[in-house]
Amino acid sequence: MKFEDYSIAIDIKRNLERLGFRKPTDIQFKSIPPIMRGEDVLAIAQTGTGKTAAFAIPVINTLNERRRTRSAEEIRCLVMVPTHELALQITEVFDAIANRTRVKTLCIFGGVDQEPQIAALQKGADILITTPGRMFDLVSQGHLKLNQVEILILDEADHMLDLGFIGDIQDMIKFLPKKRQTLFFSATINEKIKKLAYSLVHNPIRIQISPKDPVAKNIQHAVSFIEMDEKRFFLERIIKEHPISKILIFVRTKVRAERVAKAMERASIKTLTMHSDKEHTERLMVLDEFKKGKTKILIATDINARGIDIPHVDYVINYDLPEVAENYVHRVGRTGRGEQKGQAISFCSSEEKPILKEIEGFLQKPIHVLEIDKNDYQATIEYGNESIAPNTDWKSLIDQAEKEDEIIKKKKRKK
Ligand code: ADP
Ligand code: MG
Repeated sequence: MKFEDYSIAIDIKRNLERLGFRKPTDIQFKSIPPIMRGEDVLAIAQTGTGKTAAFAIPVINTLNERRRTRSAEEIRCLVMVPTHELALQITEVFDAIANRTRVKTLCIFGGVDQEPQIAALQKGADILITTPGRMFDLVSQGHLKLNQVEILILDEADHMLDLGFIGDIQDMIKFLPKKRQTLFFSATINEKIKKLAYSLVHNPIRIQISPKDPVAKNIQHAVSFIEMDEKRFFLERIIKEHPISKILIFVRTKVRAERVAKAMERASIKTLTMHSDKEHTERLMVLDEFKKGKTKILIATDINARGIDIPHVDYVINYDLPEVAENYVHRVGRTGRGEQKGQAISFCSSEEKPILKEIEGFLQKPIHVLEIDKNDYQATIEYGNESIAPNTDWKSLIDQAEKEDEIIKKKKRKK
């Protein structure tokens, strides 16, 4: 089935065409009909499978059909997300799909001046995409009213219902009408959160795509055993061997992010860093620079593990393993998005082996181990230490291997 055949507004169809969306993805195919019927939906689908449009398309269509005069400070649909960057990204998708319809979206988050946000709310909006903090400030100051909300959406729902956010979410729900539609979307969910999620919805339709493997099929992922103090040499080697690749590196803490960036700088590698110590505008600039590929290496903490859709990230490197097992799925999920393929490699030190076990427990399968030959391992460290081992020019070794591959392929073709 194509979007062309859906009973949705013609303007939405044109917008989807412009976005290059012809056919729905699996999650879109399964979610759009029940959401349009007004049902509650709890949807789990892998990273990069188009969950945003899976809720944006039917919600925009519904609000567009249910004509209502827009009143100041009142909104009809509330989309809650964990980070500023995600709020902006999702707003872009909503805006693109709602273009030329009657539906107006607004994006609000903290860390910036609130006056323009109040002015925008006064003008009125149908859909508000937001992080919890600033939204509450505006509710308590009386600039935002939630009593007309028809649809509540939690993206990255398991995270929004987890410790850091659940208090806020429960407080927010008190302001919403009892009769409403609730939609939860995520790539991961555990049993505890699932129970909590069920308590907040009414006879939900449960949609789960590929529950067996939470890692999207477009992602090849593996782990290598590398000791903590030696990780930087391997990172340097990978980056230098892939000079045109876009690489997203995850580390455990913001201090480590800066430290790894320094180590790369010493090896003449330019990187960007992204973590919670950075100001909002700086974070946006960094993301933009990485998106556009002006700088191809970004070192980030888990703050950017979820939801961010950056085109053409070739590699995700878990420089440190994530402490929260499901974040493994979200981190590696920053590559291999949509139709694209991606690769992820995790550096696991001896100390991190218990975390690896936990992650494998969450995935319910072992992660493929990329063995590093002993001599290679030693040579990488020596190269990094600039006491370059003789004959260890990795680039030419790889080129040579590729050439040999090519020759074999040619021979096969001749046959
Ligand atoms: P998720 O939330 O599941 O991780 P996103 O909603 O961020 O995924 O979408 C991932 C990518 O897939 C985006 O770049 C988006 O533009 C693209 N995409 C979504 N739906 C379609 C579609 N129907 N056809 C082609 N590309 C799509
Ligand atoms: Mg998403």
